[in-house]
Amino acid sequence: MAQTITSVRGMNDLLPSDTRRWHRLEAACRQVFASYGYGEIRTPIVESTDLFARGIGEATDIVEKEMYTFADRGGRSLTMRPEMTAGCARAYIEHSMHHAEPVTRLWYQGQMFRYERMQTGRYRQFWQVGCEVYGIADATIDAEQIAMLHQLFVSVGLRDVEVLVNSVGTNEDRVAYREHLVAYFSPLADGLCGDCKRRLHTNPMRLLDCKVPSCQPIIAGAPQLRAALGEASTAHFNEVLSLLEALGVPFREDPKLVRGLDYYTGTVFEMKCYHPELGAQSTVAGGGRYNTLVESLGGPATPAMGFAFGVERAILCMNEPQSEATVDLFIACLGDAARKKGLVLAHALRPLGLRIESELRATSAKAQFKRADKMGAAAVLTLGDDELANGNAVVKHLREKRERSVALGDVPGLAAAIKSLLGI
Ligand code: AMP
Repeated sequence: MAQTITSVRGMNDLLPSDTRRWHRLEAACRQVFASYGYGEIRTPIVESTDLFARGIGEATDIVEKEMYTFADRGGRSLTMRPEMTAGCARAYIEHSMHHAEPVTRLWYQGQMFRYERMQTGRYRQFWQVGCEVYGIADATIDAEQIAMLHQLFVSVGLRDVEVLVNSVGTNEDRVAYREHLVAYFSPLADGLCGDCKRRLHTNPMRLLDCKVPSCQPIIAGAPQLRAALGEASTAHFNEVLSLLEALGVPFREDPKLVRGLDYYTGTVFEMKCYHPELGAQSTVAGGGRYNTLVESLGGPATPAMGFAFGVERAILCMNEPQSEATVDLFIACLGDAARKKGLVLAHALRPLGLRIESELRATSAKAQFKRADKMGAAAVLTLGDDELANGNAVVKHLREKRERSVALGDVPGLAAAIKSLLGI
């Protein structure tokens, strides 16, 4: 027997039994984002490696060790996108979107790639949905975005959504803060893990993110970023908090929240959700303000705010959907002539708004009824010699055990009768 080939580690298939829940989430995203005026953007999966090195930051986990980078046949260094914010900013600049209107609201969905250590809810190919807004410096957009995402999560039934917010200040605030951190951690460096020791010199703020238990007592005593924020950053952040209160979004301030990407300036936030397999609390979404990214990629100085959430993680935390019928009607066909009639009838009925499967194989009546039941068909119409001879058949509502006699010759009348039986 030929050896089987499996999918690449950390990259998963989504089967029809999974995609039903995905569709529900995607439909909610489309509806909610459109209601806030966002337009969808689709960018290439592959970008120049430079975009991520400059956009995300050389000293971040993603750029240091998680990117799928390769040389194409022309020798260019390309990378499969590990996130979308840099790609959106590139597209915003490349298409001069700032000329078209002062405010641009984009949303996206797509696969991201990171060579990470795998666990439940952490994959090497995963999907993100995200939003980016360019052109608003005011705290209003920070609050509006957080409130919108919270609304979306609640509407699709994510359990126990927790919103955490912090501010990482401006680049200038952080220069001062980094010095405080280096001064605090340097004498304690012997007690830190290898990653922390290295980051103390490359990206000291990332030490606050470290999860190694032996580092925790040292991190707990570190100076807090909030105390190092300048007046403007503090005022902006207080305004965000007061707007979140006005919008009725339940949130918690988390002074240790710094996020893993370098481009944030000002507000940062995360949303966590309860799921037993992901640990008590799992981070489903993260985002924040990045007022310098567009300029650092060669565009005009543009304030911006965005977030992304992990679709697999959101799906894991979503309530089970009510079990839905996969088709409205299953046509059970007994005999060759009935199968031909079923094929023709289903073909004519589908454009009238019905989801139909007509049995295409020669199998027993019992096997067909069992199948209709197992696949979750809402109703069954049986065609046999008698039905073909007299032009009438019976449609049965499977769950409610109701039935209706229908004429096979009148296709619109038949569609209406099936819909009325099913209440659709
Ligand atoms: P980030 O782009 O790192 O801020 O991540 C935003 C969200 O994407 C996270 O909160 C996760 O829900 C999701 N995410 C990030 N990395 C992964 C991964 N390797 N596998 C699955 N989801 C991920």
